Order: sequence, then C-alpha cells, then structure tokens
Amino acid sequence: MAILNKLPTRDRLERMGICTDGLCINCSTHQETRDHIFSNCLLAIGIWKSILNMNGMNFYALTWDEMVARACSSWKGKSLLIAILKISWNAFIYFFWQERNQRLFQGRFRSADVILKEIVDVVAIRLRDRSINRLDSTSLSLCNA
Ligand SMILES: [Zn+2]
Repeated sequence: MAILNKLPTRDRLERMGICTDGLCINCSTHQETRDHIFSNCLLAIGIWKSILNMNGMNFYALTWDEMVARACSSWKGKSLLIAILKISWNAFIYFFWQERNQRLFQGRFRSADVILKEIVDVVAIRLRDRSINRLDSTSLSLCNA
C-alpha cells in the first residue's frame, strides 16, 4: 500500500472529505502525505538515520521516490548488509505506520528509541536462522550492531 501510495493518509482523507485536519500526527507542521511521514518527517528521519548508522552507513535525505529508486537499484545480492537493509526498511514502514495509527486513534505515543528497538528486534528475529559467516569482520560488526 505504501509503494502504491494507497495508504489512507490524512491528506487523502481530507481530499475525500473524511478528515478536516490533514496535518502529520507526528510533527503537526506538515501535511500528512506518504512522502512526508516516511521520508521527510523528523521522527522518521531520526529513526532511519539511526538504522543506517547502526549498519555503518551515512544518512542522506532522500524523497520517497529517491529511496525506492535507490532500494531497487542498489539493494541487490545476498550480502548480510543488503538483507538487513531490506528487512529494516520493511519493518520501518510497518512500525512507522503502526505508530501513526496508534497516535491518531488511541492517543498512544512511543518514543523514537522504542520504535527503533522494535525494528532492531524484527531484524534480529528475521536473521536468527540465517547462516552468517562470523569470521568475516564486516558480518561480525553488523551482527554486533
Ligand atoms: Zn511529520
């Protein structure tokens, strides 16, 4: 749904006349669009930056379309880093949408650290049965992170 831009974001609901407040529930400063909540909102940026930094990568601000294009063009192969990035991004989108819904409908707010921990836990669980060469220093560093 996120890739297809079919999520019921507040900007879309506002255009349909269902919602009168189209602002992002996380920052209340920008219109809630898919691109904003996953790529431009400071909460999302902070979490994604932490994920990249944990994997020894630098953060570059990308739009949603640039992020999808980068993922499609460079997240190829079976390396541990690529697997982590794919799982992390999926978990990031899932937990970030979940967080948006909890804030909007239940008034429950989790901190960026709590959301990040949930993503890290999913990555760890998904990699649990994967054969990893721990003699490789890059793989060992990723596992420790
Ligand atoms: Zn926002």
